[in-house]
Amino acid sequence: MKGLGVDCELMECEEVLLHPTDPFKGYDVLMVSGMSSDIRSMAMVLRRWRSRGPSIAGGPVCVESEELLRLGFTGVVWGEAEISLPELVRRLSSGDLHRVPNLIFRDGDRIISNVTGLYVREPLLWSFEPDVESIRRYRYFWASRVYVEVVRGCSNFYRTSLPVLSPRPAQCDGCGICRVGSLKDRLTCHLGIPPGCGYCLVPRLYGPARSRPVSKVVNEIEKLIDIGVIRVVLSAPDILDYGRDWLVKPHPLTDPRNPPANLDALENLLSQIYSIPKVSRGDVYVMIENVKPNLVTEEVAKLLGRYLKGTTVNLGLESGDEKHHVELGRPSKVEEVLKAVKLLREAGLRPYVYVIHGLPGESWRTVRRTIRTLRKAFKLGAERVILYRFRPLKGSAFEGYEPPSKDPKAEALKGFVRKLERFSKRELLGKTIKVAVVDSYREKDTYIGYTLPHGPVAVIESKSDLRGRVIEAVVKEARERYVICLPLSQT
Ligand code: SF4
Repeated sequence: MKGLGVDCELMECEEVLLHPTDPFKGYDVLMVSGMSSDIRSMAMVLRRWRSRGPSIAGGPVCVESEELLRLGFTGVVWGEAEISLPELVRRLSSGDLHRVPNLIFRDGDRIISNVTGLYVREPLLWSFEPDVESIRRYRYFWASRVYVEVVRGCSNFYRTSLPVLSPRPAQCDGCGICRVGSLKDRLTCHLGIPPGCGYCLVPRLYGPARSRPVSKVVNEIEKLIDIGVIRVVLSAPDILDYGRDWLVKPHPLTDPRNPPANLDALENLLSQIYSIPKVSRGDVYVMIENVKPNLVTEEVAKLLGRYLKGTTVNLGLESGDEKHHVELGRPSKVEEVLKAVKLLREAGLRPYVYVIHGLPGESWRTVRRTIRTLRKAFKLGAERVILYRFRPLKGSAFEGYEPPSKDPKAEALKGFVRKLERFSKRELLGKTIKVAVVDSYREKDTYIGYTLPHGPVAVIESKSDLRGRVIEAVVKEARERYVICLPLSQT
């Protein structure tokens, strides 16, 4: 927005809602970004705005456009904002929004949708510079995980073969286009089934994977470090998609398995990031999040291990039943998840395995097999299992499915994961961890902080004020949501 000449300011929703006077004084337009789970806070912010001018919603919540317009937002930006913002800024003052691409808005009683279905390409794609200075507006920004975009979109254009309920009932007829068709043909399914894993929205909203030039990534990280940030996450639906799109250019990267990971591009990215002195000295932590298990080979694991030893890495299992895993639209096989756990652990990373309960197609058979697979993953070196309850996202292939409530299958999975969690938390007892202390906690002489580079929230007992400091602390107790520690100097 600043690049378009707009005088604007970033605020957290909480800051707006708790502001003692008028947080919007002097502003003409409100723009609120969020995920589907943020819709209530967005509505509260909008209520505070009280129609004093146009209000625009954006972010992944855009799939809830009807609800957002009903709440009173003037318009909703669909998907990637680069497509809409230049025209939107030009048109907002006149109030005529008809020519703004990818905008959904109300015109009298009618809802107008200008969604084009296009995704952003270069040169527009990376032409906007992130407003790095605005990071200061986030509380605890210095200790928080700050996401630096490295890959936009996802290469998984496989689709679920389970029945789809919305926008109209359909089931894959096995035409094979999205698995073996040309890269361009995989963009659409003749039955209208959204791309990617059935529960996910990333490929539909953010398109195929596209990699950001190394210089832009490094530049942003350097600026963040100058401001005081100490934890950087290389943000990507899959970091191993980095540079794979360059290998298939000018075609879209819609194949999650071929070509394999681009080792040269990854090496170049990581080596340049690690040539920043504070990163190479270990004063600033660089982390990754998700990888597609099928792209993890021995070379890939060794490369990641050379730079990212000791950091966590997320692997989606979701269902440990081979048939179910594939039916969901996953790009991998169950055995590839297990192999990735082993290779990444051997390379010095800390694999976390992700599972979802309540998914369409779940049965006692899939749950039993998931438990069996998780046991194997633990033996092979998985550090944690993260279990999510399935939430049907609007606009995803699984929209309209509801997870059963009080389901004994879910309880069985939860019980098993709780046992694993207790086990891995017990492993932490007596260990020394590094903590960035951000604030005081509820009780007197207690402080709260983030484990570095990544780990459970830490509550530290101390008589001296630790706020704003990075300390070493010994874990004395593990609770469900955090660990309790004493500063090393006090033990
Ligand atoms: S393109 Fe559609 S119908 Fe064809 S295999 Fe993929 S999901 Fe099935």
